[in-house]
Amino acid sequence: MAQGGPWRGVIAEYEDLLPVTEATPRLTLLEGGTPLIPSAQIGPSLPGDLRLFLKFEGLNPTGSFKDRGMVVAVAKAMEAGARATICASTGNTSASAAAYSARAGIPCMVLIPHGYIALGKLAQTVRHGAKVVPIKGNFDDCLRVVRDIVAHYPIALLNSLNPYRMDGQKTAAFEVCDALRGAPDYHALPVGNAGNVTAYWWGYCHYRELGMIDLQPRMLGFQAEGAAPLVRGEPIAKPETRATAIRIGNPARWRDAMRAIRESRGLITTVSEDEIRSAYERLAAEEGLFVEPASAASVAGVIRLAENGFFGEEPTTVVCTLTGHGLKDPDYALDAAPDLEPSPPDAEAVLERSLGSHVCA
Ligand SMILES: *Cc1c(COP(=O)(O)O)cnc(C)c1O
Repeated sequence: MAQGGPWRGVIAEYEDLLPVTEATPRLTLLEGGTPLIPSAQIGPSLPGDLRLFLKFEGLNPTGSFKDRGMVVAVAKAMEAGARATICASTGNTSASAAAYSARAGIPCMVLIPHGYIALGKLAQTVRHGAKVVPIKGNFDDCLRVVRDIVAHYPIALLNSLNPYRMDGQKTAAFEVCDALRGAPDYHALPVGNAGNVTAYWWGYCHYRELGMIDLQPRMLGFQAEGAAPLVRGEPIAKPETRATAIRIGNPARWRDAMRAIRESRGLITTVSEDEIRSAYERLAAEEGLFVEPASAASVAGVIRLAENGFFGEEPTTVVCTLTGHGLKDPDYALDAAPDLEPSPPDAEAVLERSLGSHVCA
């Protein structure tokens, strides 16, 4: 369990539970320690007796949960004397890899699918000094090239195939248990490459082995309808979803994730683009939480399950991970933007316009 006092980042807080040694650099941007926010509106609005908590991972240093694993992966790469780092990414991995590599003083190379990176993520990656190579192809094509490169050069691979990233990501499950003084009944996540759902499960298992919790949650995974290989049971050649962080057709952690779902007696299913959009808008408008589209998939899924009576009438604690920050994807945010035509600088005109649009809405 993390100690009291000012937060020191995941390596220092959980060093006993991570594969770090005296020789591992204490790299940190003070990642982790994110809030577990009780839902004010969405949870209470659902049928059943839900206690809904939102683990807001968008508050990590680069704006997504990727920082938890990346700090451990880059620290271990430093320890091993790596001369450079590389990853393929739908965006957040690259932003995080670039930031931690910058902090560590190691050059970073990033392969991204051309045209499918949210603007905020690209901006971060570029400014942190990574060499960005857009690839004519999707994420899966990028990953294939990266694997080819690391097989032949002394460059540290920072994709979720890197086991240290999984170790670091387990700390989010530790934090949930520390905050709730026990495990929730259910833990819901968006699923792309399927590393995070796997890492949470491993984290809960680890805490159970240590006797920190008695029971483990059931894991609930949600994929976008157009990018749901785990639900369909086969790779998707051309995955499609506006939630670019989960636009993955052949997840790297396929088997591990399916084992996590099975062992936890959980489930994995799809959510539609409309359900993602609706949950995204509700999180921002009703909870005050601005997340990226992929993050809303966990809440969209829980809303659907609750409305179908899935959670029953018993008091049930559900945690949804909100994986990334809304600022990552401003295009999605302003899709259905309000009228941004300028008004004359005049009180009456302004009131008429805002009240008018309110009444009409
Ligand atoms: C990476 C990412 C996901 C998907 O996580 P996986 O471990 O690939 O399943 C979801 N949301 C956001 C914001 C992400 O950055």
